[in-house]
Amino acid sequence: MLECIVTKFGGSSLASDEQFRKVRSILELEPTRRYLVPSAPGKRFDGDDKVTDLLYLCHKLASEGKSITDPFAKIRDRYLDIARGLHLKVDIEASLNEVEEGITAGKSRAWCASRGEYLCGLLVADYLGWRFVDAADGIVFHEDGTLDDPKTQEKLSALLADGESAVVPGFYGAMENGEVCTFSRGGSDITGALVARAVNADVYENWTDVSGFLMADPRIIDGPAEISSITYKELRELSHMGASVLHEDAMFPVRKAGIPTNIRNTNKPYHPGTMISRDAPNEISVPTITGIAGHKGYSVINVEKSMMNSEVGFGRKVLQVLEDRGISFEHMPTGIDSLCVVVKTEALAPYRDEVMGKIEELVDGQGAVSVSDQLAIIATVGRGMVHNCGTAARLFKAMSRARINVRMIDQGSSELSIIVGVNDSDFEATVRAIYHEFVG
Ligand code: ASP
Repeated sequence: MLECIVTKFGGSSLASDEQFRKVRSILELEPTRRYLVPSAPGKRFDGDDKVTDLLYLCHKLASEGKSITDPFAKIRDRYLDIARGLHLKVDIEASLNEVEEGITAGKSRAWCASRGEYLCGLLVADYLGWRFVDAADGIVFHEDGTLDDPKTQEKLSALLADGESAVVPGFYGAMENGEVCTFSRGGSDITGALVARAVNADVYENWTDVSGFLMADPRIIDGPAEISSITYKELRELSHMGASVLHEDAMFPVRKAGIPTNIRNTNKPYHPGTMISRDAPNEISVPTITGIAGHKGYSVINVEKSMMNSEVGFGRKVLQVLEDRGISFEHMPTGIDSLCVVVKTEALAPYRDEVMGKIEELVDGQGAVSVSDQLAIIATVGRGMVHNCGTAARLFKAMSRARINVRMIDQGSSELSIIVGVNDSDFEATVRAIYHEFVG
C-alpha cells in the first residue's frame, strides 16, 4: 500500500472549473494523494491564452507605462469563472485586486508571473479544503536566481512536517530577503519534485494532458508506441535531444532521492502513463530500445593535426576556444590524429570566424581545420541495449537499407544510447528506419 503521493497538475489540467472537477475525482480515487502542486491555468482550447503569458504581458505593459486593463480583465475572468463554477468561498476578487495593484505599482517580472500559480493555489486549496502553503516560504533561491537546494529541502520539509494535506503553488519561491523568484518556464514540475523529496513521497505523480512519453516524435512516426517504463538516465538522454513532457531539471531531486515519477493524463485518469524510476527493478522483459529522439541544426568542427595523438593537452586547448565563447559541445568523437567537435550551429554562428581562426592557430600549419553544417543528431536510447549484442548492427543495417549516409557515430561505454549524425535532410528518414527496425 502506498503511503504518500505528491501530485502536480499542469496548466491544462486546471484550465477551467470542469478540469478542477476532474482533479478532485483523481484525488478521491486514491486518498494517499496528499499534496498538490498546481500550475497556473493554461489553455482551454487551441488559441486560448495561458495565464502566465498574460501576466508577463501585463508586466511588460506596466513597465512601459501602458494600461494593463485589457489583459488583466482576461486574467480576472479566468479565475472568477472557476471560482463561480465551483461555488468557492475564497475571496479571490480581493487577491486579484492586490495582484493588479502590484503589477501597476511596478512589482518585479518574477513576482508578476508567479501570481498565476499563487492565485490558482488559493482556488485549489479552497476547493479541496486543504491547507495553502505559500511556495515563497519553502522554496529558497540564491541571490543569483538559482535554487538553494539544501535550504529548500530544510524549509520545505519543516513546513510540511505535520503530514496535513497541502497545496503548494508551483513555479516560484523567494530569496532570503523575501524577493520572489521563478524557475524557467514549465518550472512547476520542479516544485512538484522538490515537494515530493521534502515529504519523502513514494511516488511523484505529474498530471498533464498526455499519457506519458512516446517512443518517437508523433510528427515523424504515425501513432508511436507509448513508453510504460523508463529510467531517469534514459529519460535524461531523450529529453536532452528534444523529447519534452517534463522540465529537464525536475528529474534531479527525485532521482537522487530514489522517488519514481509517474506521468499521468488528467483526461484519462485510468491510463497508467509512463513510470520513470532509478533502476527499473524486477523487469521481466526489457525492450531493446526505449525511445528515439533527435534534432537538426548542428555543425561539426573537424580538426586534423599530424601527431595529435602524442600531443598532451591538444583536446583541452580546442575545447578552451569554445569555452571562452560560452559554446557548449555536444559530442567529440576522436581519431588518432583527428578530432571532431559537434556544436549547435546557432551557438557557433556569432563567433564562427574567430573560433575557426583560433583552432587554426593551434594546428599551426600541420593539418587542417574545417567546419560542416546541416548535421542532425539522433539518439537511440535503451537500457535493453546494455550487454546485448547486435543492436548497433541492426541499427546501421536499417539505416543502410534506407540509403542513409552516416556522418558521425558516438556511443559511450555506458551502452545506454547510440548516437548517429546524418544530414539534416535525412533526419526524418533515419528516425523512421530505426523505429521500424526495433518497434515494427
Ligand atoms: N506557469 C508557468 C509556465 O507557464 C510554469 C508552469 O506551468 O510550470 O511556464
